[in-house]
Amino acid sequence: MDARPLKIKTIGILGGMSDQATLQYYREINAQVNRRLGGWDIGETIISGVNFGNIEYFVRSAKWEEAGDYLAEKAIGLQAAGADFLICVSNTMHRVAPRFMKNISIPFLHIGDPTGAAVTAQGINRIGLLGTMPVMATPFLRNYYEEKFSLEVVVPTKEEQEDIDHIIFRELVRGQVVQKSKDRYLGVCDSLASRGAQGIILGCTEIFLLLNQSDSPGLPFFDTTALHIAETVRFATEDASSPGGIF
Ligand code: GLU
Repeated sequence: MDARPLKIKTIGILGGMSDQATLQYYREINAQVNRRLGGWDIGETIISGVNFGNIEYFVRSAKWEEAGDYLAEKAIGLQAAGADFLICVSNTMHRVAPRFMKNISIPFLHIGDPTGAAVTAQGINRIGLLGTMPVMATPFLRNYYEEKFSLEVVVPTKEEQEDIDHIIFRELVRGQVVQKSKDRYLGVCDSLASRGAQGIILGCTEIFLLLNQSDSPGLPFFDTTALHIAETVRFATEDASSPGGIF
């Protein structure tokens, strides 16, 4: 019999962005920890489920400093509650990670690290990126992939970006899956491929609700939700060195 309580790292989750994504993180973290450890073991988690209405407001009005300060307060709470490291379930809010991690001493597992590593492991150097408007139209994540992983990032056209973003905020964060929206996403993936993308980063943590690899057998998808969860579980259960990230 192992010594109990079993010692694994406590995962501090900045969640609620959206609740749909957070549910997937919680469910999958526990399922994967159980697959690794067996028996009745699941993850040790502390979730700060923030109010998505605040996040939507910050994004829509580009109040990035306010967003960073709001999440900084939540990050401080997670650290004080005993988290051993932090993750943030929103690609978009990684934009303000330097601000919300400023006074935090535990590590941050950046969503771009397992994603960039998975892309380069397949020998891909030109990658398409889907996500919210800030993810596609501003450089914070594009630069992360370009500088850290030497990837060339291709983003949709302005008009395509608007549709991709609307579908996230009007449907996916509310758990709505609409066939017409799926068709639109697949059309945008095709147009990125015709511009040289060898794969697509699903750079928004709700896109897994809409797209599956089986929808697009010839074009590899890199789902940030799945890749981030797998890396989180590895780091929580293995005696690994500090994760990557910009902090
Ligand atoms: N979950 C999202 C993401 O991965 C979008 C919602 C948000 O703006 O936080 O970017």
